[in-house]
Amino acid sequence: MPEKRDYYEVLGLSRGASKEEIRKAYRSLARKFHPDKNPDDPDAESRFKELSEAFAILSDDDERRKYDTFGHNSPGGSPFGPGGFQGVNISIDDLFGGDLGGIFSQFFRSSSSGNRRAKGSDLMVRHSVPFQTAMDGCEEEIEIEALITCDKCEGEGSKDPSSVRQCPGCDGRGRTERVERIGPFTQRVVSDCPSCDGGGRIVQSPCKSCGGSGRSNQTKKVRFSVPPGVSSGVRLRMKGHGEAARASRGEPGDLYIEIDVGGHDWFERDGSDLLMALPIGYADLLLGTSVRIPHIDGDHITVKIPAGSNPGDTISIPGRGLPRQGSRSRGEVSVVLKLDLPSRVSRADKKRISEMYDILGTNEENIQERIKDEAYRRRNSRVR
Ligand SMILES: [Zn+2]
Ligand SMILES: [Zn+2]
Repeated sequence: MPEKRDYYEVLGLSRGASKEEIRKAYRSLARKFHPDKNPDDPDAESRFKELSEAFAILSDDDERRKYDTFGHNSPGGSPFGPGGFQGVNISIDDLFGGDLGGIFSQFFRSSSSGNRRAKGSDLMVRHSVPFQTAMDGCEEEIEIEALITCDKCEGEGSKDPSSVRQCPGCDGRGRTERVERIGPFTQRVVSDCPSCDGGGRIVQSPCKSCGGSGRSNQTKKVRFSVPPGVSSGVRLRMKGHGEAARASRGEPGDLYIEIDVGGHDWFERDGSDLLMALPIGYADLLLGTSVRIPHIDGDHITVKIPAGSNPGDTISIPGRGLPRQGSRSRGEVSVVLKLDLPSRVSRADKKRISEMYDILGTNEENIQERIKDEAYRRRNSRVR
C-alpha cells in the first residue's frame, strides 16, 4: 500500500490555510477529479476519494487539530471508524454552490436510522418449565398481552376509510428528516413524524376500539415448542409474534420467550451432564454392591459400586444424561459416592461394632503410608 499522503498536500495547501481556502481548494479539485467527469478512470476516482477524506478532516475544527498534532496516527484510531474512510457519494452538482457540509451525509448513511423499517417492537416474556422438560422438551401454549392489530378496524384506525387523510407533516411517510452535525460530518437523522406519531396518516373519526392507532392491547395465545436439552436463559424467538407495527405499516416485531428450567430433587446440572451424590454404607463400599434408582428418562439407573470403593469416588454412567442440543447424543450421569453413617446407633450395636474394631477402626500402625495413599488417590480420582 502506498503511504498515505499529507492532507494539506492532497489539497495543495499550506498548514495555515484558512477554512475558506480549504473549501475553495476542495471544490475546485473535486470538480476536476469527480468520477462523473472521469468515467472509467480509477486514478481520478482514488484521487477524488483522497480529496474528500482530506476535506472531511480539515473542514472540522476538532479533527483538524488532532490531525495537526498526530498526523495520520491519531491515538483514537481512524476518525472514520474501524473501516477507515469509505468514500462519499457526492454528485457533481453538490460541488457548485450550496452548503458543502451536507454532502457527507451519505457517508454515515449506513450507521444512521435512514433505512429503518417501521417494524413493530419486539417483546420478551419469561416462561418456567419443570426440570423434566430438559429431558423431553415440550409443547407449550401461553397467553400474552400485546399491542396487536385492532380487529375492529383491521388496523386502519378508522371505521370509515374515507375519513383517513395523509399526514401533511410528512407527506404520509411517517418519518421526518433533519440534519445534525456529528464530528466532521453532517448526518441526516430520521425520526418519527410528531404530527402523526409515525403512522403517516391523520384519522378524523378514530375507531373506538383502538382510539385510531390501529393497534390495541389484546391477549393472544402463542404456541411454541421447547427443545430437549434446554437450559435456563435460553431465548426462543417467535418471529412475528411481537407488537404490530404502527398503522399496519410494517412487519410485526418478534416475541422472545426466555426459558427458566426448574430444579431437580437430587440432580445438579453441568450442561448436558447430571451430577448427584449417593450415600453408601460402609459394608457396601467395602464389599461392593449395585443400587437401582428411578431416572428421568423413564428407565431405572443401576449404579454399580465396585468392592473397595472409597467415599468421594465418582462413577460415570455415559449416555444417561440430558440430550445435547443439536445432536442425538446425551451427556453422562456422574455419581459421587458418600459414606452413609447411621444417624443413631443403639447400645447393643455399639457393642457389636466395638468387637469388630480391628476391622472397622482407624489403623494407626502405618498412618504415614495411609495418608500418602489417600493423597495419591485424591489427586488421581475423577472427582471434578
Ligand atoms: Zn406525519
Ligand atoms: Zn381499531
